Parts: sequence; structure tokens; C-alpha cells
Amino acid sequence: MRPSLLNPLFASAASLPGVGPKTGKLLDRLLGEGASGARVVDLLFHLPTATIDRRNRPKIAAAPIGAVVTLEAIVVDHRPPGPRSKAPYKVLVEDETGDVLLVFFLANTQWIEKSLPLGARRWISGKLELWEGHRQMVHPDRVLDAEGFAKMAPIEPVYALTEGLYPKVLAKAVDAAVARIPALPEWRDASAPMLRTLPSFAHALRDAHRPDEPQAIAPDSPARVRLALDELLAGQLALGLVRARMRRSSGRASRGDGRIADKILAALPFSLTASQEKVLGEIRADLGGPYRMLRLLQGDVGSGKTLVALLAMASCVEAGRQAGLMAPTEILARQHYQSLGEFARSAGLRLALLTGRDKGSERGKILDALASGAIDIVVGTHALFQESVAFRDLGLAVVDEQHRFGVHQRLALGQKGQAADILVMTATPIPRTLALTYFGDIDISTLTEKPAGRQSVETRALPLERMEELVARLRGATGAGARAFWVCPLVEESEALDVAAAQDRFAHLREIFGEKVGLVHGKMKSRDKDAAMASFAEGATQILVATTVVEVGVDVPEATIMVIEHAERFGLAQLHQLRGRVGRGAGKSSCLLLYKGPLGETAKARIEIMRETEDGFRIAEEDLRLRGEGDVLGARQSGLPGFRLADLAAHGPLLALARAQAQQIVAENPRLEGARGEALRLLLNLFERGEAIRLLGAG
Ligand code: ADP
Ligand code: MG
Repeated sequence: MRPSLLNPLFASAASLPGVGPKTGKLLDRLLGEGASGARVVDLLFHLPTATIDRRNRPKIAAAPIGAVVTLEAIVVDHRPPGPRSKAPYKVLVEDETGDVLLVFFLANTQWIEKSLPLGARRWISGKLELWEGHRQMVHPDRVLDAEGFAKMAPIEPVYALTEGLYPKVLAKAVDAAVARIPALPEWRDASAPMLRTLPSFAHALRDAHRPDEPQAIAPDSPARVRLALDELLAGQLALGLVRARMRRSSGRASRGDGRIADKILAALPFSLTASQEKVLGEIRADLGGPYRMLRLLQGDVGSGKTLVALLAMASCVEAGRQAGLMAPTEILARQHYQSLGEFARSAGLRLALLTGRDKGSERGKILDALASGAIDIVVGTHALFQESVAFRDLGLAVVDEQHRFGVHQRLALGQKGQAADILVMTATPIPRTLALTYFGDIDISTLTEKPAGRQSVETRALPLERMEELVARLRGATGAGARAFWVCPLVEESEALDVAAAQDRFAHLREIFGEKVGLVHGKMKSRDKDAAMASFAEGATQILVATTVVEVGVDVPEATIMVIEHAERFGLAQLHQLRGRVGRGAGKSSCLLLYKGPLGETAKARIEIMRETEDGFRIAEEDLRLRGEGDVLGARQSGLPGFRLADLAAHGPLLALARAQAQQIVAENPRLEGARGEALRLLLNLFERGEAIRLLGAG
């Protein structure tokens, strides 16, 4: 439950005085997330990105051209355009040193006559220009009388906008939001000297929106530091509480004897890589230890994470418990089920698949078997774990993350078993600082090498205009039996458009290749998706047109060609994932990046890197460099929390401080009791980390 003190901040922005339905919609577009509209807190967390300094008040003759100035002048002449003329309305103003023409296009004559009466003294603020040798100011930002001037903010905050939303309208809404900030109790640790000099959270928010100096919006200003620190503290505290709860509820070691794992290994046509051995050792030590495991297994595409997961689950089964593997999509769940099945059955493991699609008595049977312990390992989508599926004794939950899950699902899963260990698998290497930020004190295992015999993938870039050449090449290749993925443009923010693009390309390729072409996209029914995937896997279709659904882990070793259309629209990590779909089998593989020119600097750099290297770690680093830290994980795609007030590039060093504070709080006051505990609960709720509080009572 969110404390009622915060209710005014979580009310819709449209409920603010002076914000009508039209502005409300614009605010939703600017600040809302998905279907939920903008709230007061979203306005408050929408910080200015720049300032306009209106303190520069030179005499007209001395006013610098091209700068924003505030002039004190007398209105001396009105020059309205002639009837039906498209010319602007001009007003001449002067001081004792010179004059300036104020220029209004499509003028509101009434407003001009009222605001700028002849002979009146006015304060006019805006950007001064020179036109045909004369000073002019087009559409001044401010035209004020003495009273208005007295109230003018000398430093004006500038905000990111959306089309149709005017700065003044947004500023008014922000003002109304600032007025709603309630008196909040202090949650900072009063003993830390550095913190004592920072303003309170409420003050900091106010200051951030009403800068009194241009430097007041700099990341190192006291207000910005306070806000960033609080946001980081909320994140670290939430993670710390979850971790502490896991520790408290720990205690059951799953120590396998290796009998099942040995059978799996004996049946493999290859041996584990040294990297797989090492990582498996780390995981087994955790499973056998007294603490609950929370471990991230990172490894590039094709580095063999799935097999590691299976062997870890086998360990758990050896110890008499069950294990679950959660996949981000139904296709992947099915595929995991199939590939695990080959290894698992020979070792006598009882495996089941449970997805949202299983209904009725089939489902009932699986649920019963899970509850009685007749199933050792279950593979499913996250829906499986969110519902009330009861295990006899879940010992290990593996989350194949692929960046599609949010923290919430991960927590929900953790609550399933009594103290189930958790292994999160991810294919995009995450730099250490980021991992700490997003996962807290998680342990990390890394697969650093790929299985021997991996084919390198030849990568080429081609402008879209040369698609005919590509089609000709494909004709040759498919004639010789090759299989190709053809991934269609990602149109940001619209799955419907993605699908339409894929359908168009499908129709186009069908005309050329006929029945050889299949289609799979996110809007298809799961059965149709499976059918499309299956006929591609069998070779009944040889070209599979797809939206990015194929990105996540699809394994068709016979596929040797990856075409990515509009490659310039994909991020590096995504391109790398997609390319990882080929080069998995014996055949020589290639990846063709079709791009639409002219390419921007970043797109050019991305494509260049793709051609240069297949090393996922190097690519992740370059991605970080090109995108800036904030977006490496693709926060929006992943459901991972992005930061709103903290800017990791600037506030990264504060992270250590926030972590230390969080650790201290968890150690000294793990149930957030007393006055400071109450205040910290407010902090968590303010940053929507309230779910961590629910765990306080449990376990
Ligand atoms: P990831 O999930 O890390 O992308 P996978 O687990 O899907 O990689 O492994 C890719 C392929 O490599 C699978 O077909 C798997 O059976 C195979 N593989 C895994 N480990 C090895 C190994 N040590 N030697 C050879 N092939 C391996
Ligand atoms: Mg995989």
C-alpha cells in the first residue's frame, strides 16, 4: 500500500489546476508510459535540460546580437501590415541608445495593441537579431509591464517537449505540480557530513525546477545530487531488502552427487568447454552452500548457457528437488523443452512443458505431477510461474532473461519455492557497474569462450537499393538448399507497423520464391508461430521472414544466412543477437545488413563494428560507448528500471555511496521500523519500489 501522504503525487497530471484535457493528453504523450497517463510525480521528475538567462539587461545599443536579452524600452511606433498583406506586424521600441523592431507574423492585433500601447514602458525579453542592418526581435518570449517584470523568473528552466505542447503551458503544469509537493519526513542519514549540506528532497525538487543560476541544473548542483542520490538509494535499498530476505529464508543446500549430470555428459557428442566447467563449479558451490543463490550467468550467444543450466538443474534433481526454467516467449520455451529433452531423457530426467496454452485436463495433469514430484524439471513461460503453480519442492529456478523480464517477474519467481535458488541467464554481457545498479549484490558467472568449431559469420553491409542483387544471391543459395532468416524493420513504438512491414516483405518474397517463404511475427497466434518455426526448422520453408521474435534464442543450425533489413534501426546488441542465429551449424554462414542511406554517424559506427568483430563483450562495450550508459540494457525493452533523476554518466560515483547507505540500513533496520523506517518506506514508494516493502513481512 502506498502511504496516503504520497497520493497527491500519484494523481493524474490532468487533475492539476490549469491543466485541461487537451494539455493532459499532451502530457500523457510526453510523460506517460504505455497505457498509463502522466501523473504529478512524472511532471516533477521531468527535470529541466537547460536554462534561459533573462538577467542580461543591456542598453539597446550595447545588446549582443544572437543572445537572449531583456530590454527596457518605450513603445514608439506601430506598423501594422496593409489589408490582406502577409507581411508581419511590426512595433518599434527604443531606449536612449537605440531602437529595435519587434516582429510578429500572423499577428494577433488585439493582443499587440493591448500589450504594447504607444508611449508605454515595457520589458521585452527574447533573442536579438540583425536583419537588413536593423536590430529586430521576432516574437519576443516576454512582453511585460512593470508588475509582470517584477515577477519574471530571471533564470527560466527549459524542458523537453512534445509536438503541440508549448513551453509556457508545460511550465504552468510543472508549477502546479511543484505546489503539490507534500511535506516529507527526512530519510537521509543525518550522520553523513556530506549529506548534511544537501537540501531536503522536497526542496531539491523545487530548486531543480526553479533554478536561480544556470549552474543550478548542472548534475553536480546540490539539488541534482540530492535527487540522484535518493533515486539511487531507493533502487539499492529495494535490491538490498530483497537480497536480505533471500538470505534470511535460506538454509537448504541442494548438494547433488553427479549421477544424473554424468549420464548427460556421457551422452553428449562433445565435452564441456573449460569456461562451462568453471561456471558450473561456481553454480554448484552456490547450490550446495547454505545461502540462497542469486546468480547471473552471462555469456555470448552460442556460448552454451542452456547446457550449463541443464546441468545445474540436474544437480538440484540429484539432491531430490525440482527445477524450473522460465523463458521469455512461448517459442523459446518450446525450443528449450525440445533441446533439453534430447539430453535429459537419456539421463532419465522427467521433463514437462507448461505454457499459457495448456488448458483443462492436460494442464491439470501437469500441475498434479508438479505438486506430487512426478516431474523433475518444468520449462515454461513466465505466465507459468505467476499463477498458482505448486511444486513439491522447487530448488532452482532458471530465468532465461534475454532482457525481456522485469524485476517484478524475477521477484515473483523467487517467492515460488521455499528458498529456491535463482539463476538468471543473459546473452548481453553487462558491465559490472551496470549489473550492480540493476541487480544489486548479484553474483556473476561469465562464459568467456565459445565451443570449438564455431563458424565465423561473414558480415556485409549493403544499401537497400541493391536488394535485387541480394535476392539473386538468395535464389542461388536456396536453390542449393540453404536456409535464411529475413528480419524486418523495427518500427519504434508500433508493433502493428512492424507486422505490416514483415507482411509486405513476405508477400514480395513469395512472388519470387513461392512456397519456400514462411512468415512469423509477434501478432500471430502461438500455434501459427510454432507451425511457421517448425516448417523452417524442417526445411519445408527455406526463407523465414520475421520480426524480431527470432532474436531471442531460436536455434536452427541449418540456417546459414541472416538478412537484416533496415539494419540502421537496430541497436548493436540486437544486431549481434540476430547474427548469432546463424553460424551455429556446419555450413558457412553470412549476415547481410541492408541499410537505408544516408547513415548517421552512430549507425555507420554500429555497422562498422558489426563487420569488424563477433566478440559480444567488445560489442557490448562499443554499445555502451555509442549509446551512453543509461540505455545499454535497453531499459524500455527490458522492463528494467531506468533512472529518471540520476544520470549514470554524471552520478555514477554516487552509486557506491547509495550502496553503502542501503547496506547499512539493511543491516541496522532490516524491517524499516521507527520514524526513519517510515521515511524510507516513503522513499521506496516515491520511486515505485514499494514491492520490496511487501517482502519485509514475509519469510
Ligand atoms: P546460448 O544459449 O548460450 O546462446 P546454447 O546453449 O543455445 O547457447 O548453445 C548453442 C549450441 O551449442 C547448442 O546447440 C548446444 O548444444 C551447443 N553446445 C553447448 N555446449 C557445447 C560444447 N561444449 N561443445 C560443443 N557444442 C556445445
Ligand atoms: Mg540460448
